[in-house]
Amino acid sequence: MSSVKEYFKSVGEGVKSLLVGMGVTGKELVTPKVTEQYPENRKTLKIADRFRAELTLKYDAEGHHKCIGCGICQMNCPNGTIQLKTKMVELPDGKKKRKLDEYLYDLGSCTFCMLCVTTCPQDALEFTNDFEQAVFERDKLIKKLNYRPEPEGSEAPAPAKPAMDPEKLAAIKAEALKKAAAIKAAKAAEAAKAAGEASPRNADAPKTEAPKADEAPKA
Ligand code: SF4
Ligand code: SF4
Repeated sequence: MSSVKEYFKSVGEGVKSLLVGMGVTGKELVTPKVTEQYPENRKTLKIADRFRAELTLKYDAEGHHKCIGCGICQMNCPNGTIQLKTKMVELPDGKKKRKLDEYLYDLGSCTFCMLCVTTCPQDALEFTNDFEQAVFERDKLIKKLNYRPEPEGSEAPAPAKPAMDPEKLAAIKAEALKKAAAIKAAKAAEAAKAAGEASPRNADAPKTEAPKADEAPKA
């Protein structure tokens, strides 16, 4: 009798399990799909703007980049991904200036840490989100970032710094002199205090008396 009872109990559990499974399947049937049909959806594919795929130099509309070849990015890169070559050029005003000659970036060894981007004093670098970087040869992962031809006028001397307002300059100088005088006065007061503390101490110090002739040890 108990075996018949167990039989119907297991049949009930099987039907229940089947219904739970069918419920999950039915729910997924009406849920919008999240799978991507890559590469068929290449045209509509949305890659997050902040995705780090490849380092590049920022170029303006005239084709200028802001890199001055200082080498800070190369020094800060933890694994030697950046190799810079610089050259000295003569400016129209006769002065010499260091310029970027070649900016080589090895995508194959980049860890996308962003240290180069965040430490660049010129804000000359950025990461693109162009994720399709697969190649068959490693050499092709080494990229020259200053790949554009240099536009005319890129060797013009830097514009002169605007002259400071004389009144502002005088106010800054006066402020600096005031601060220097205050520091000097504070130091003088400190020295006077130290000297004042030192003299009574000397006065209170026990005086050493010379031994009298009759107290001298007899031989
Ligand atoms: S990218 Fe920036 S940090 Fe690197 S060399 Fe150019 S200016 Fe210097
Ligand atoms: S992201 Fe990091 S590893 Fe890549 S080039 Fe910049 S500093 Fe080097």
